[in-house]
This record gives sequence, structure tokens and C-alpha cells, in this order.
Amino acid sequence: MTSDTPCRCCGSRNVSVKGRKSGRFIRREFEFRHCADCDFMFVEPFSGFAIYDDAYYRGEGPDPYVDYEAEYRDWRQTDRMLEFDDLFRIAEAQVRAAAARGEGSREKAAASPPLRWLDFGCGAGALLKYLQERGSLAGRALELSGHDVGSYAELLKSHDGFRILDWDELSAHPGESYDVISMIEVIEHLPDPRSALSLVSRLLKPGGLLLLTTGNLRSPIAARQGIHYRYCAPEIHVSLFNPKCLSHLYRQVGLEPLSVRYDGVVKFKVVKSLRRRPTLRRLMQAALALPPVVRAIDAAYGVSDMPCAVKPRAGA
Ligand SMILES: [Zn+2]
Repeated sequence: MTSDTPCRCCGSRNVSVKGRKSGRFIRREFEFRHCADCDFMFVEPFSGFAIYDDAYYRGEGPDPYVDYEAEYRDWRQTDRMLEFDDLFRIAEAQVRAAAARGEGSREKAAASPPLRWLDFGCGAGALLKYLQERGSLAGRALELSGHDVGSYAELLKSHDGFRILDWDELSAHPGESYDVISMIEVIEHLPDPRSALSLVSRLLKPGGLLLLTTGNLRSPIAARQGIHYRYCAPEIHVSLFNPKCLSHLYRQVGLEPLSVRYDGVVKFKVVKSLRRRPTLRRLMQAALALPPVVRAIDAAYGVSDMPCAVKPRAGA
């Protein structure tokens, strides 16, 4: 079946309607469209960014687990510490591995320039503040930037220690500016993920790392539930990926998929979803100390099956 709307991931017209459902907050019917060529799924129509209001940021919108107010007040008291430690561990391992591959001799390492990190979709700024507090990664001082839209991005502009850039500023940025770019649960919100990843690819230095997390629509749980999977919230999650189409999109924009093994990111997803169920939450926190439990949850939701990416070096 062909469609008037080409696939927002690969541009193919080999797109069909997989199902329809109503939004819980915007009471209209949305279509979930699936591309037979790259396996990407996207929502039509895109309902715009007006849904991201203060109620949304308090967790009273389509994503009940968002809590920007707590994150903005004190990120250390939120569950996101689990996620941040894990992302930091992965970035550090990657930066050290690149250094060990001889991309810089010992002398060069001694005079290492700052490591430039952009948090694309920085929300309430929790990851930026965490990184600011860590101060350095793999022996290199961190130089931090963030990008987002909305009221919290405006608030963050007055903070010292990092710069907040809007889309136009990022677009005008010179290429090959960043060693690490993070996009944590961002790309599913974007109606044009290819443009965002093209920009990210341009902004990454050769050998640079993209840390990207998003839901896996080919995980056992998602595959069983189809468009009724809770993640398929059509007002906000408009670009729905799986490992195959995400890898395909990476390659389209000049990035190479990188497989990662998450730990704290998996734990974070579990405990944040139990924020309003304290007894079960305590039980799960105890269970998550056992690595096989983490591995089983990871497999069920396909978290580590979703690749990150690196920008290849010329001639690599
Ligand atoms: Zn496609």
C-alpha cells in the first residue's frame, strides 16, 4: 500500500496504516503508520508542541513519569541518578577506548582539550547539572551545552556552567564541535527525526559519540501489545523506532551504530514507573540489585538492543 505521507525516517512511500487510537489528552483519532521498507512507525497527524505545558512538566499530561519540577529543584533526589551514572560510564568507556586506539599519544593526552558534551533535549537540565558536578570525564574537563525548547530551557539560560542553545544557534554552529551528544528519550517526540539526527551527525567530531535512548517497538512486550503499548502515546511519542530502523537512520545521516549494554538506564525505567507505588517500588529496588533481574527486564523491553552511534573517522 502506498501513502501520500512518505516515511519520516527513510522517505519511502511504502507506508500503510497499522492502527488507529484516540489520544488520552487530545481527544481525536490518531493513525499509526508503518513503513514496510525501514520498519519505522510514525503518528499522523502530528499534534504540535502545545501539549508540552506546565501540567505536562509536572507529570499531569500524557507522560505521568515526567517530573521536571523535582529535577529542576534537585536532580540528586530523583531516580535519574541511576540513568546518569550509567550514561557517564558508557561515555567514559568509549572515550577511553578511542584514546587507547592511539587517537592521541600520551603527550597529547596530557594536553587534552576539554571534552565538549551537548545534551540535545536537556529538559529541566538535570543531566547538565550532574555532568557539571562531575567536572571531568576520562581525565578531560567537561565543557557543557544543552538544547531544548520551552519554559525550563528559558530558566536554564541564567545558570552558570553551561550554555543553552536554541535550534537556530545549533544549526549555525560550526560542524565537528562536540565529542559527545546525548539524546535521552527525545527522538520519539520529534516529528522529523531525520533532520535532528542529521544536525547531530554534523555537530559530532569524527570519532564522537551519540548517546541515544528511545523505546524499542520490537521488544517482546511492545510486539505483543502493538499500538496499545503504553509507549504509543500519540500526542507525544510520534516517532517510534526499533533497532533496525534506528540503525538504518544512523547510516543515512553518516553515523555508525554502536551496541551498548545498559544497567542503570534499565533500573531507572523500572523505578520511575513505580513512583506512585512505594511498596512495590521498594521490592523492585531490592530485586534490581540482582543482575539476572536487570537482564530479564532489559530483554523484555529491549533496552540494550537499541544502539547508540559513533561518527566514523575519515578513512575508517
Ligand atoms: Zn521508512
